[in-house]
Amino acid sequence: MPSNENPTALVVSAHSADFVWRAGGAIALYAKRGYKVIIVCLSYGERGESAKLWRQEGYTIEKVKTERRKEAETAAEILGGETVFFDIGDYPLRLTDDHLFQLVDIFREHHPEFVLTHSKEDPYNFDHPLATQFAQEARIIAQAHGHKPGEKVLGAPGVFLFEPHQTEQCNWKPDVLLDISDVCDVKRKAIEAMAGQEHLWEYYTRVALQRGVQGGRNSGRAGMTHGEGYQRIFPQVTGAFS
Ligand SMILES: [Zn+2]
Repeated sequence: MPSNENPTALVVSAHSADFVWRAGGAIALYAKRGYKVIIVCLSYGERGESAKLWRQEGYTIEKVKTERRKEAETAAEILGGETVFFDIGDYPLRLTDDHLFQLVDIFREHHPEFVLTHSKEDPYNFDHPLATQFAQEARIIAQAHGHKPGEKVLGAPGVFLFEPHQTEQCNWKPDVLLDISDVCDVKRKAIEAMAGQEHLWEYYTRVALQRGVQGGRNSGRAGMTHGEGYQRIFPQVTGAFS
């Protein structure tokens, strides 16, 4: 259950569709539990992750961005999250201190209970690890008493890294399998809103099924059919092992 009256979660997504494949279940699950889930999309993925649109006639960068924004807004609405678009540009993603402070302000305004973002490494995609670094740096600045003294500083929200496309190459290993069975149909609906990347629909539905089987088999959660994997950055702090 939420630990405060206005619980919030924060998702930092390099491109406008990443949050759907990789964290759509978590977003839908926490939205259902009454959390405000803020999804920061640093770019629309307009250059690097919109191949289907670029293969069509008459597309310009602005038209691709508009289309991708619409898709992401629709997907976020289905999941129950709220989007914030930084429109920084992708391939390459180039973040300035102003962008950093913009994200720090979001941390300070909402005090999220946890943060979801990309893997620390990804040899297939330079923007993803940059987004992770950025989210982590903003989180730490938001914790600093000397940054905008007088504002309430951020606590220590957990950081969970969502599943990259090819896990082994990214040195990503899940240590959390989130049971998203109750919202798997919502996630699928959001996935289908990403018309520009139809080739990934079945792939990420299969990923969720695999994680569901793994979770169900090893945890005694017999009803678990769909899951999402996450890697923790910080150790779980606990007073007991079970
Ligand atoms: Zn991406």
